[in-house]
Amino acid sequence: MINSTNSKISRGIKCSICRSGIKDLRTMYQSRLKLGVICKTCRKHFSEDDIEMIVNLFFAFGGYFGQFDKSDFSMDEAIFEFAEKLSAGDSTFHAQNVKMWHKILTYGITPKEFLEELSVFANQ
Ligand SMILES: [Zn+2]
Repeated sequence: MINSTNSKISRGIKCSICRSGIKDLRTMYQSRLKLGVICKTCRKHFSEDDIEMIVNLFFAFGGYFGQFDKSDFSMDEAIFEFAEKLSAGDSTFHAQNVKMWHKILTYGITPKEFLEELSVFANQ
């Protein structure tokens, strides 16, 4: 039965960004690099470029958007950790940058929110 097979598959499909189940397959969005499918909500929240970056990060490092409680995230700590690892010389700027973005996303912070916070931080 084609229909029953399809409903089984659709029940198992999860958004590659937030891991919420995608019930209505007509509303899902496939990333350009075909690494994952994106739910309607994430499609609305992120730009196409953001989606590609986020999907790539979660594909490489695991985790998902909003995995950890947003209120546990500290901008000061993230920047301190970034600077500390960089000055320790055991990481390149690019590698550290990638790790920081991954961490930010697992705390459910969008790239836009982060850049806004970062500019506030930089102006202090
Ligand atoms: Zn999603």
